Amino acid sequence: MTDELGKEDGYDQARWVDGDRYEPLLSEKHTREVEIDTPLPDELTRDSLDLPDLSEPELARHYTRLSQMNFGIESGPFPLGSCTMKYNPKFTEDVAALADGAVHPDRDAETVQGTLGLYAQLQDYLARIGGMDDVTLQPPAGAAGELTGVLIAKAYHEHNGENRSEIVIPASAHGTNFASAAMAGFDVVELPSGEDGRVDLDALDASLSEETALLMLTNPNTLGLFEQDIVEIASMVDDVGGLLYYDGANLNALLGRGRPGDMGFDIMHYNVHKTFATPHGGGGPGAGPVGVVDRLTPFLPSPHVRETDSGYERYAPEQTIGKVHGFHGNWLVLVKTLAYISRLGDEGLRDTSAKAVLNANYLAEQIDYEVPFSPFYHEFVASAGDTDAADVAKAMLDYGVHPPTTKWPEIVDEALMTEPTEIENRRSLDHLAAAFNAVASTDEETLANAPQRTAARRIDQVGAARNPRLSWHALDEE
Ligand SMILES: *Cc1c(COP(=O)(O)O)cnc(C)c1O
Repeated sequence: MTDELGKEDGYDQARWVDGDRYEPLLSEKHTREVEIDTPLPDELTRDSLDLPDLSEPELARHYTRLSQMNFGIESGPFPLGSCTMKYNPKFTEDVAALADGAVHPDRDAETVQGTLGLYAQLQDYLARIGGMDDVTLQPPAGAAGELTGVLIAKAYHEHNGENRSEIVIPASAHGTNFASAAMAGFDVVELPSGEDGRVDLDALDASLSEETALLMLTNPNTLGLFEQDIVEIASMVDDVGGLLYYDGANLNALLGRGRPGDMGFDIMHYNVHKTFATPHGGGGPGAGPVGVVDRLTPFLPSPHVRETDSGYERYAPEQTIGKVHGFHGNWLVLVKTLAYISRLGDEGLRDTSAKAVLNANYLAEQIDYEVPFSPFYHEFVASAGDTDAADVAKAMLDYGVHPPTTKWPEIVDEALMTEPTEIENRRSLDHLAAAFNAVASTDEETLANAPQRTAARRIDQVGAARNPRLSWHALDEE
């Protein structure tokens, strides 16, 4: 298989060949035994250490080759519906890398006024974007934001002497909504989608009661549809004394155009790692700030930041639910968020939502797959019909594009949930459409054997999720 240079058909990128790694581990490349001489006690040391003995270019090439084994937002279009993956502008990384940002979070407030001021400014920007009265930056992810919001709702009801036991969630909601409600000890009441893919008001009426603590909604919902009855929905929830939660993981369609607070929502989270730079695909840290209206601000997590006459201070809100993460959350992600919002400004944010919606509609218009529900906003859900959506996804990789989210929401058969985001231009959208259409006209047998041209082919997805091998030690042990 390999030629005298050790190359597979002259192919020079890292890849898996028949289950074998083609890019060796660093420790397999070249190691050198290093004698260790240290003042540490014997039981804490070893005699020698095998260290890779490689030059910087060798090392850089190794990691570059490995990076090419994966598909990232910088490899090509990545239209992952609901889990917005968009390009992370490099200037946000420059801002996050400024040395002045490395401040110990426990320093006295008067010595870190700049840092606290940045938090206060971001709290204010996010509150204005969402139509909320105050925002905590502490939760480290969208799901953590949901749990925080649910705990705030619980504390609020308990403060009013009520032990409400139920949270109502539409069937089409993101899985984390159900998990957050259950983790906080609530019973989940699942709301079936109406014929048109939206909340069915009769079904909602039947599911609301004096036990309802919260209704969790995504709007536009996961089908990309706007819940036009939102004002009526809000008043129905209010009538039974419940609160309304907005899953704002993907705010792309609303930026600068509509605010959850104005629609009647009481609590919301923002996935700043989806809407405001920092794509989350690498498993790195994110941030899921939570906004609330006035009557809920006393329950926000502690510490919180506010501006006083003598500068910025940290404080514990009166009936705080306590900490949901260390200090003020994931600082560098928040720095990038502020940089992104500040660079775009009002006009830029409005432009983002316009392009996100235009791009989704342009793409849907070009592809041969049926899109059963419309009009949609920043994303749409196409149907692969009788074809397995997973096969469509694998085949798309051969065209240099990442597939959409598949098989969810279940209301659409073999769903292809697609969100091109505002970052793609027309050339790139045409390329994406061409990839969809090439796959749509491919026979089932070829699809079942795709992808052919990627570094790894069909992998054991369940095994990878349930039994991850996160270091080279695991490979060594096999
Ligand atoms: C991504 C997402 C979440 C969860 O966010 P994480 O940061 O992944 O925890 C919740 N709701 C919706 C609609 C999402 O798309």
